[in-house]
Amino acid sequence: MTTFQTHSAEETTELGRRLAAELKPGSIVLLRGDLGAGKTTMVKGIAEGFQAAKADDVTSPTFTLVHEYRGPDIILYHIDLYRIDTQRELDTLGLDDLLAPNCILLIEWGEKFPRLQSEQNLEIALERVAETERRIMLTTP
Ligand code: ADP
Ligand code: MG
Repeated sequence: MTTFQTHSAEETTELGRRLAAELKPGSIVLLRGDLGAGKTTMVKGIAEGFQAAKADDVTSPTFTLVHEYRGPDIILYHIDLYRIDTQRELDTLGLDDLLAPNCILLIEWGEKFPRLQSEQNLEIALERVAETERRIMLTTP
């Protein structure tokens, strides 16, 4: 496990840009942390790292559930399961179909579903330490 500390949203976005290099095509990345921890902020950087979207164009998929960002090499799916409560609702999203070899799934609130808890998934856990300070822990499979 690798731990980072950031002191602004911009620093977290920058970390996301760098972490993009660690993410493997065809994989699931679980973003853990409370509301406001910085999960979506991290995705802004990851999307920039893959040249899939500008940070400002990455918004929370809380209501839309799935956002798609297409880069030259990779398609990112940014998924927020905060409002999904049952396995049945999860199934209707068809996440399995999105997991193609040239795609990466970035999932917020994936820990709600045991089925998404896999040793094979990279996990980025964010903790709010103070108003602008975040501890970010990366666990690679
Ligand atoms: P989540 O998706 O986990 O609910 P967001 O990324 O939407 O969280 O929101 C994080 C909020 O915290 C933003 O308003 C952001 O500006 C603020 N913030 C303050 N400091 C940091 C930091 N070091 N890293 C990330 N976000 C931070
Ligand atoms: Mg979010």
